[in-house]
Amino acid sequence: MNSETTLLKAKYAIHNTSSPSPQVLENAGVLIEGNKIVEVNQWDKMDHTADTVVDLPHHVLMPGLVNAHSHAAMTLFRGYADDLPLQEWLNDYIWPIERKMTPEDVLIGAKLAAIEALMSGTTLFNSQYWHPRQEALAFREVGVRLLCGPPTLSGMAELRFPHDLISEFHGKNDDAVRISMNPHAPYTVSPDDYQKINEFVRDFNLKHETLPPMIVHTHIAEADDEMKAIRSFAEREGFSVPADAETPVQYMNAINALTDFTLAAHAIEVPASDIEILAKTGVSVSINTESNMKLANRAAPVQEYLNAQMKVGLGTDSACSNNTLDMFGTMKATAILQKGFFHLATRLPAPQIIHMATYGGAQAMGWTEVGDLKRGMYADIIAIDLNKPHLHPIPSTQTLLSHIVYAAKGSDVSDAMVGGKWKMRNRTVLSVNLEEVLNQFEQEALALLNKR
Ligand SMILES: [Zn+2]
Repeated sequence: MNSETTLLKAKYAIHNTSSPSPQVLENAGVLIEGNKIVEVNQWDKMDHTADTVVDLPHHVLMPGLVNAHSHAAMTLFRGYADDLPLQEWLNDYIWPIERKMTPEDVLIGAKLAAIEALMSGTTLFNSQYWHPRQEALAFREVGVRLLCGPPTLSGMAELRFPHDLISEFHGKNDDAVRISMNPHAPYTVSPDDYQKINEFVRDFNLKHETLPPMIVHTHIAEADDEMKAIRSFAEREGFSVPADAETPVQYMNAINALTDFTLAAHAIEVPASDIEILAKTGVSVSINTESNMKLANRAAPVQEYLNAQMKVGLGTDSACSNNTLDMFGTMKATAILQKGFFHLATRLPAPQIIHMATYGGAQAMGWTEVGDLKRGMYADIIAIDLNKPHLHPIPSTQTLLSHIVYAAKGSDVSDAMVGGKWKMRNRTVLSVNLEEVLNQFEQEALALLNKR
């Protein structure tokens, strides 16, 4: 039996985002059958009759954005600990209050995150946080795809293998949620735990070829004092740091922690010779510019990663270190920081930023059926309303790519669809009642913050 078909007719569509130079179609048609895209073309060249035809006459369609690194339920701590260095922020503010957080807190915090993501055009989200089951339930309810899994931190969260989460969520319900392993960072996770985690994931992927792949999501080389943090962690835990490891990447390579299913968040303090190590071992990265700037970290060698054919995505990081989950802000900040920091205006042009914010991020997360408008991809599509002063003029279709990166905001996203189903129409979230969630979130967040 054939699935239902929908034809989206829009003024423009951005496609070919799987390449570093996405293209713009005018008078675009996107034909969807069930949960997948079957054709993208100029709509007058399409002879299909669809069950439903949706007109988006002053809109640009594009693949839903992919947030490749975040901590969803940290929405609870938005504005809670600003203007502090990373280690102080973590040790004195974040970890103490997280100890008082309940699974119910995470459920409502993640629900707000999922809504915030959806309303700013994100349809696939990567989270590393406590109580991943609650995050999975929240995102599934709102309708934003989620990659999540149990965090590992020595002394705070012992290593456990998420057999229960895998059987409940991994690739199920139209691929709504996938499960990953989340060792926090080389300065909080022992070499032994990294080994065990990699062994588990390698084994899982070999044994379950028909299931979506699992990945390992970890922070690497975020701040310039990370080797110092690794050395004092090693001393406390009683293991030795290989003598020739001078950087976090060299250390991770020396303990065999880098694999082609590793997604490294940040990857900032990475000299040229270390880029080679990352590329050779097949590591993917997520660049999280706004969080890095706020925590006074430097700029990652993004262009060099792309030149080395690595999979590179963009992420917001948490709503406590950013402080929003709006990927449009992240796109713009990444583009302009890279130019300013490296003193080169031609670095990372807008089309490459769009590639990373869509297909690049999805690939980095191992989610290969997401991130482009083309046949065979999941119909994860957003529409941006161009009837806004800050999105004009449009003298050529290519100008639109610049507008998306440099001028558009999350609130310009009018409609969002995941797996062929509308999750937001005309800025109304269809799956949950926004006002109810906001009220409940506010009450629970204040109760939690008052426990400090
Ligand atoms: Zn992070």
